[in-house]
Amino acid sequence: MAVPLLDLKAQYATIRDDVVAALMHVVDQQAFILGDPVGQLECAVAGLSQVKYAVGCANGTDAILLALRALGVGREDEVITTPFTFFATGGAVHNVGARPVFVDIDPRTFNIDPSCIPPALGDRTRAIIAVDLFGQMAPIEQVTAVARGLPVIEDAAQSIGASRMIDGRKVMAGEAATIGTFSFFPSKNLGGYGDGGMMVTQDEALFEALMKLRTHGSRRTYFHEIVGYNSRLDALQAAVLTAKLPHLEGWSAARRRHAAYYDAAFADVPEVTTPFIDPANTSIYNQYTIRVGARDTLQAHLKARGIGSNVYYPLPLHLQPCFAYLGYEPGQCPEAERAAHEVLSLPVYPELTTAQLDEVVSAVRTFFGR
Ligand SMILES: *Cc1c(COP(=O)(O)O)cnc(C)c1O
Repeated sequence: MAVPLLDLKAQYATIRDDVVAALMHVVDQQAFILGDPVGQLECAVAGLSQVKYAVGCANGTDAILLALRALGVGREDEVITTPFTFFATGGAVHNVGARPVFVDIDPRTFNIDPSCIPPALGDRTRAIIAVDLFGQMAPIEQVTAVARGLPVIEDAAQSIGASRMIDGRKVMAGEAATIGTFSFFPSKNLGGYGDGGMMVTQDEALFEALMKLRTHGSRRTYFHEIVGYNSRLDALQAAVLTAKLPHLEGWSAARRRHAAYYDAAFADVPEVTTPFIDPANTSIYNQYTIRVGARDTLQAHLKARGIGSNVYYPLPLHLQPCFAYLGYEPGQCPEAERAAHEVLSLPVYPELTTAQLDEVVSAVRTFFGR
């Protein structure tokens, strides 16, 4: 039995009628840019994220880029972030003309280690980007506490609907940051049928700035106060996402059940380190990521049995060729580097059957001779 890492067709089969009706509605209206569908999704995501404002944009990378621009980050500025993330986090910093400063991660959660931030703060630091990796929130209140009043962007591309208990209150992904950013790339927990992204904030001035930046720096057509971007959320994508959003909580719960199933099944396999979820967090498990010493041979073993897996991420950002100009060397973020050698993400999508879970479990257990 083949078990892919992700099976979008299995999900589509469960929601086809709703999604097709939503798509056809937009097509019948022949209104494709922004408009009601985007406004509806913005309201719904603002509600889910417990924030005042949400602004749709073209993708999750642009969401970070526009957030940085809205905060006035540009040339000569530095932005502190994690090297263990998808490339977009660091790429966006570079693309606004600023310098990424990479600090190491907490080896248990793979998220930025707040204690590594103070030594990296300097006169030119303008912002910090925390990433909620694999579906669990970074310790956003701890990052904010060491940020010396600097704005904090939360790259929540992998964590929409995740939450964290902070001072006895349930805080949603994106809510506690100066600006939170989401991606609707098809493989995210809330995925569109193409690219899409969104930014959330509690700050009205930042909301105004983000609205402007996504439409060439203008709020009044053909009058441009600043130079912005063409980074609109497509109405067709917004319609798909609005139709899918009511399912998100159930899908995330199914992912958590699958994760618990794996946790129990690997409990007596000492070679496998199962994901650590901070007790304050409720993860949406965008990935179920284990650590193993013999990672590459395990991956080959799984592949031979038709089981999908992937390495997120094989090379930390501070060692990427394009960032050689920053002058980092191996050993500077040892935990991120060790994680890059050991991590392997296993199938955890909501539609997995017990038979499929058992297939993955038995393949992993056989590899370790159990
Ligand atoms: C997917 C992702 C992005 C980029 O989102 P796109 O919509 O693909 O541009 C940024 N950061 C992280 C952590 C991601 O996982």
